[in-house]
Amino acid sequence: MTVTRFAPSPNGPLHLGHAFSAIVAHDRASADGGEFLLRIEDIDGARSRAELADDFRADLAWLGLTYREVTPQSQRIPTYHAAADTLRDMGLLYPCTCTRAEVAAAAVASGPDGPIYPGTCLRRGPQPGVDAAWRLDMKNAIRLAGALEWTDERRGVQTAQPELFGDVVLWRKDAPASYHLAATLDDAADGVTHVTRGMDLFLSTHIHRLLQHLLGLPVPVWHHHPVLTGPDGRKLAKRRDAPALAERRRAGEDGQALAADLRAALFATGISLSDTINQQS
Ligand code: GLU
Repeated sequence: MTVTRFAPSPNGPLHLGHAFSAIVAHDRASADGGEFLLRIEDIDGARSRAELADDFRADLAWLGLTYREVTPQSQRIPTYHAAADTLRDMGLLYPCTCTRAEVAAAAVASGPDGPIYPGTCLRRGPQPGVDAAWRLDMKNAIRLAGALEWTDERRGVQTAQPELFGDVVLWRKDAPASYHLAATLDDAADGVTHVTRGMDLFLSTHIHRLLQHLLGLPVPVWHHHPVLTGPDGRKLAKRRDAPALAERRRAGEDGQALAADLRAALFATGISLSDTINQQS
């Protein structure tokens, strides 16, 4: 059975871009008589707000999307710990005490998530008594995994290139598991067969494919859809002034009519679609 998901983080309201993403995921599942899941990605405790998650549920219903909600990330922490332990036991994680500023100052190249880590803490070894994040030893992980492929429904078969990211953080200092580790584990646990999300996350899939291999997880198909852009050509984002769905809902707008407009790609004035890989938000 086809299973898709919409996985918003409750750190800001949903906007039109999210509505579009949810519709794509919902319709991809229903085209096959499958199931559409809602997963609240509230791993970042300090920034997550429960009332926003309530809004998300109401927003989806307002758009006419039927979903089944699965366990939110905040209740899955032991699973993330177990996976991190597995990777640590495989010798693939190392502690890193560098600050963001130190990483930025020492980095010689940039990847999709920002500066590529120059491996300072891999060379100098653990620093006892200092809070550490845990990074993936990418060279070793790739050596172990060998060549990997993954399939995007729109763009076809891809050769995994996790090296683009360098030694990514999989366990954070300030919050539990990173997005990459948590989302990969959750999609497997939720039985997601088609990971639908925007092109802005296309390159992240290289990491997710590697993690699936290392952790022995099933490999889904991906469907990276174009993202809605504002008049400035940039992705609509929660932090900028894109109209919140909750505001439109409370103002009495017809959500199902909006969903129909989005399906017909009749977007509000000045809003268009971009198919650019990993457009920065
Ligand atoms: N939680 C992520 C977000 O709000 C989505 C992650 C995903 O779809 O893989 O952007």
